[in-house]
Amino acid sequence: MLEVRSLRAGYGAIEVLRGVDLAVGAGEIVALLGSNGAGKSTLNNNVSGLYRPFGGTITFDGQAIAGAPSMRIVDAGLVQVPEGRRVFPNLSVRENLELGSYRRGRAARAKNLEHVLAVFPRLNERLAQLAGTLSGGEQQMLAIGRGLMSEPRLLILDEPSLGLSPLLVEEMFALIGRLNRDGLAILLVEQNVVQSLAIAHRAYVLENGRIALSGAAAELAEHPELRKSYLGH
Ligand code: ATP
Repeated sequence: MLEVRSLRAGYGAIEVLRGVDLAVGAGEIVALLGSNGAGKSTLNNNVSGLYRPFGGTITFDGQAIAGAPSMRIVDAGLVQVPEGRRVFPNLSVRENLELGSYRRGRAARAKNLEHVLAVFPRLNERLAQLAGTLSGGEQQMLAIGRGLMSEPRLLILDEPSLGLSPLLVEEMFALIGRLNRDGLAILLVEQNVVQSLAIAHRAYVLENGRIALSGAAAELAEHPELRKSYLGH
């Protein structure tokens, strides 16, 4: 579905990504790992059209999307859920969700809302509540719910477990597994190496703007270099 080839990208004169190759196939969970500042967000922001790459190609279902307007990329079915809690705090849960489907008709919006509320019953109980008053975990669910409202086929999740309690982290990973089993392809950007490798099919490790390691998640979980760098043993 998603193919990134020889991607070079950065900010002004600074090149952050220095030739990155990465792919996500239909039905896959692919983990993108890497330490702080490795370039994970830069990769996401270029894939989702927020920035125009310096070079290389990005295709989604065979269509070139590098530098395309974000709206067109979302319409094609590639949706990024931003890191942390970037919901609109002064809008209600319902309004936040409906924004995810604002380009669809009323009927599609209602159908999508029904689907998202079935996935997140907690949001259903809080539809009229202002998003800014939700707990951190609920805001994270809302951000993912809003992404689902756009009818994605590939969802990019940027650190969905960030700031969650251990129990909610478990729940979040279980949810990601469920969404994937329902047919969604997922690019999972995470610092939580052990749990990400446990649910991913494949993984890439980004270091200093280059892919340092890649392969089947189960094999990477045993990789001595990865264990040493990210798990300390
Ligand atoms: P983290 O896990 O900490 O979020 P990351 O892997 O997502 O890190 P990026 O956010 O992609 O890393 O940052 C990669 C490099 O690009 C960093 O050195 C960062 O300072 C730099 N950078 C990020 N955004 C900008 C920007 N808007 N302007 C200039 N430099 C930037």
